[in-house]
Amino acid sequence: MQRRILIVEDNAVTSTLLKRALKRELGLASVVAASHQDTLAVLDREGRDSFSLALVDLQLPDAAAGETLDLLVNRGFPCIVFTGDFSDEVRERMVSRKVLDYLLKENAQSVNAVVRLVGRIHQNESLKVLVVDDSPTSRRALVQLLERHRFQVLESGSGEEALALLEAQGDVALAIVDYHMPGMDGAELTRRIREKVDLNRMAIIGVSARGNNLLSARFLKSGANDFIARPFLEEEFYCRVNLNVAMLDTIRSLRDASMRDALTGLYNRRYFQEAAAQAYASLRRGHQPFAIGMIDLDFFKRINDTHGHEAGDRVLQAVAKALAQRVRGSDILARLGGEEFCLFAANVTPDKAGAFFDQVREAIAGLEIPYLGTSLQITASIGVCTRPGNSMSSMLGVADAMLYQAKAIGRNCIVPDFAPLDLGHLDPGGAHVPIRG
Ligand code: GH3
Ligand code: MG
Ligand code: MG
Repeated sequence: MQRRILIVEDNAVTSTLLKRALKRELGLASVVAASHQDTLAVLDREGRDSFSLALVDLQLPDAAAGETLDLLVNRGFPCIVFTGDFSDEVRERMVSRKVLDYLLKENAQSVNAVVRLVGRIHQNESLKVLVVDDSPTSRRALVQLLERHRFQVLESGSGEEALALLEAQGDVALAIVDYHMPGMDGAELTRRIREKVDLNRMAIIGVSARGNNLLSARFLKSGANDFIARPFLEEEFYCRVNLNVAMLDTIRSLRDASMRDALTGLYNRRYFQEAAAQAYASLRRGHQPFAIGMIDLDFFKRINDTHGHEAGDRVLQAVAKALAQRVRGSDILARLGGEEFCLFAANVTPDKAGAFFDQVREAIAGLEIPYLGTSLQITASIGVCTRPGNSMSSMLGVADAMLYQAKAIGRNCIVPDFAPLDLGHLDPGGAHVPIRG
């Protein structure tokens, strides 16, 4: 079971808003406690371990001095605190209690800010951050700050060690790099990392003692995304880490959106063309077999005309899902446009291609797609190309021509390039038998 959020808040309007927003935005369940006594009762009843973190109002009617925060911190709860003021004294308290963050309560944006923060903390659990610092003490300090925000933290004591670790790990999202290290300095390490990973895939934040402005410039010119001077406030550290992680996230979702089709979630034509050309080249080099199938739904327009565009969309989504289930590791599946899909099937030999794509055809023909109380059905025609020819685009041309033949002989069938039809003799016979449903 996914762990819940504990909301400690005496204002019922605020706690309801929070509870709803956490559910709506993040799908997270929460339990509300309206007082200190209530919090004790909830902890007794539910136990500490059923919660991932707590949102805590600093002032409660029966605990005006932050006793509930102390209680939760002592029980090992990561806490996000709401407070009425940002005085130096409150800030000191927050820092000493090692809270995740503190937010001003009467701000209309604060519910959004809390939800965003909770989402990020949960996301951090899947992100690897590498800390590179030769001093064990200052490395420890950075590691602890990151662990508090639930990152998976890796450590290196030198640039050389860091490069080896990155080579082995591959998917590190952020590196925090000290400048002064024996051997390779932080800027040199940054430059070496940038030879392999660009700054839109992995962020680097340089760290060094205040007082030498040149260092920040040196880090940034070597390819760092950001720089923090020591000593720093925790708030500044978290702010810079979060900004960089959020930037990577935004870039990743933009990149993802630009290569996918919004209706079905499959890859789009642009991505397919690039990826298939690459796969073509590499499989050709390795003398490995592959086949491509051009898949076009039959009389799809009738679905739209009879049941409406919405029904057509449901059919496209159902077909996409059925196709996606057949895709293995290095296959590439895309919606090329309208009701046309393409499946690049790696490691399918010519003698298996017919049976493989006929199963795909059958899977589509067997779909019963629920729509407004009725069940919709659809078939597809598939043109298959197994001969690599000179290029990916020539293969697509052949698959298209085979698809045209499949349509011509009556649809719901596949026509492979090793058994093309003589369209002058529509009665299939002899060697040129298309596989028909
Ligand atoms: P054929 O068997 O010859 O392929 O006939 P067809 O009706 O499937 O092909 P045709 O090209 O005549 O019509 C395709 C229709 O697909 C026309 C277009 O309005 C519809 N279409 C294209 N994209 C979408 C979409 O995203 N959603 C819906 N609902 N319809 C779409
Ligand atoms: Mg069609
Ligand atoms: Mg079409």
